[in-house]
Amino acid sequence: MTSESLRIVREHNAFRRSCINLQASENVMSRSAMEALASDMYGRYSHITGEGYNSYGGAVFSEEILFMAEALIARLYGSRYAEVRPIGGHIASEIVLSTMLPPGGRFLYVGPKNGGYPGYEQEYLPNLLGYSSAELPYLDGSQEVDIEGLKNIAGKERIDLIVLGQSAIVRPYDLAEISEVCRKEGIPIAYDGSHVMGLIAGGQFQPDALKYCDVLFGSTHKSFFGPQGGIILTNDGELLERMRKRVVWSTMDNYHPSRVAALSVAAEEMLAYGREYAASVVSNSRELGRTLYDIGWEVRFPPWFSFSHQVLLSEEFFVKRSIKPLDFSRVMERNRIIVDRDSRLGLSEITRMGVKDMSTIAELMEQALRGEDVSTTVEKISADLKLEYGE
Ligand SMILES: *Cc1c(COP(=O)(O)O)cnc(C)c1O
Repeated sequence: MTSESLRIVREHNAFRRSCINLQASENVMSRSAMEALASDMYGRYSHITGEGYNSYGGAVFSEEILFMAEALIARLYGSRYAEVRPIGGHIASEIVLSTMLPPGGRFLYVGPKNGGYPGYEQEYLPNLLGYSSAELPYLDGSQEVDIEGLKNIAGKERIDLIVLGQSAIVRPYDLAEISEVCRKEGIPIAYDGSHVMGLIAGGQFQPDALKYCDVLFGSTHKSFFGPQGGIILTNDGELLERMRKRVVWSTMDNYHPSRVAALSVAAEEMLAYGREYAASVVSNSRELGRTLYDIGWEVRFPPWFSFSHQVLLSEEFFVKRSIKPLDFSRVMERNRIIVDRDSRLGLSEITRMGVKDMSTIAELMEQALRGEDVSTTVEKISADLKLEYGE
């Protein structure tokens, strides 16, 4: 039988292999991690009960790899504990919020207009879990939490938790200052590092996350090398035990053991190459920001542009070039350059694929935007790329 479904998957694979991917939420996995993901573990169950035995048989190796993944991830982040079972950054967030907030609790988060994650808006996670949320005072021009603004409300408003982290994130937080305010008022801090987990693991972004925050959590597939999934890190054993109760039968049942196996492989790769990879990602994004700026694109935050894997295009850019982000993305896609519709450019994947020449990327984007067809050139470049930092 020839499968129509498989035909579509193969077409997708061939198409994506012919493209240059600048999507900030995406990355590529090594063949070793792929082998783990497509292994027999894909459909197995494993659940170690409170009494210490597994509810399922045949899970000896699934258990072994779960413990290995936990140990590797904890070592990567220098944390005492790691929870690796959440099947996404969003689920990790659900576990963290529902553990750290009292019933009916209220938390502050970076608003979507400042690049924050929309899941924290009132109608999503807060409504689902019975909480209320409000935006943190934030200085958009300099991409910083407004410390004075936070001080002004900290003693007055009810704040049970502060959730840091953004989906459009180019700069680490001044955690020493934020945590000083929070400590005075007894407010815990959770850091949603979904976008930057790979950069934190590589020591190139917010290395003090766990020094100042009670919890660090996020996705394993954006700047990190893993399959789609989520992890939670903490040094607080009591908090960990309470979070662990929110995993099986609460926010999820099975945790997809083959996903954890692939994560474990990815963690080994991060331990071996993470520093080098993350340093290249950050220097590539700064370089792409600078190069685009030099050819006249209105990139946000000159002269530093970015300390992360992202470069943000300003509203002014889209106005001047008379194009909406959605159409910009479509024009790029016709030229096999993949970008999202949120004005972000992401450097994780092309860095892992060994792209080093940012001026060529910038030139191709400019030509595509001017209406030239550069798809064949992009296809040729893409064909020569080879995954680095792992096999
Ligand atoms: C992407 C993202 C999430 C959701 O993560 P998934 O892995 O897609 O579930 C949560 N928070 C932030 C800040 C994100 O950018």
